[in-house]
Amino acid sequence: MKKFGLDMEGVLVDIHRYWIEQMNKEFNTNASLENIDQWYFESKEYEWLNWRKFLEDTSKYWKERWMEIFPTENNLSKKISRIKKLGYEVSIVTNRNGYKNEMQAWLSYHEIPYDNFISLSESKSKVYLKDSENFEIVIDDNPNLIQELRDSNLLVLVYDRPWNKCIEEKENVKRVKNLNEAIDLLENLIKEI
Ligand SMILES: [Mg+2]
Repeated sequence: MKKFGLDMEGVLVDIHRYWIEQMNKEFNTNASLENIDQWYFESKEYEWLNWRKFLEDTSKYWKERWMEIFPTENNLSKKISRIKKLGYEVSIVTNRNGYKNEMQAWLSYHEIPYDNFISLSESKSKVYLKDSENFEIVIDDNPNLIQELRDSNLLVLVYDRPWNKCIEEKENVKRVKNLNEAIDLLENLIKEI
């Protein structure tokens, strides 16, 4: 069975947007997702808006109120089911370590079907999974990871976010605006075979 590596935060979970909404309330500011225009971000405009604070706050959210964190799109359950129906084994992959129970609870709360859940430490790159897991396709929002996978034989889907605009497409690197676009692409692949 073909293996599909599905990133969790930034692709399924709209953790950045949720965090910004909380911070805007707390600091009475007007930041938006577009203010996060790099992976390791830091803003001159908003003092609170930086990568380190994001990581600290969002760890707290996972521990204390994971149920409130909203998804990136509606109908994730149906969309991931469609990917599975196309014949993919779906592995959910995350670099956030220590919140496996909460993250899996979030997935069941949203009725998202998957075959494996892989949680790596923050320092361990997902790149190694391409060999250990034999992934054929991955979808991710992390521009650093995407750069590392650029010259591999994987099909890499870039989930369009303000912080990965720097990524240029090539034959095996395709930008998708949402999961329906990803599904269309997978369906076309099957037709081509
Ligand atoms: Mg991500």
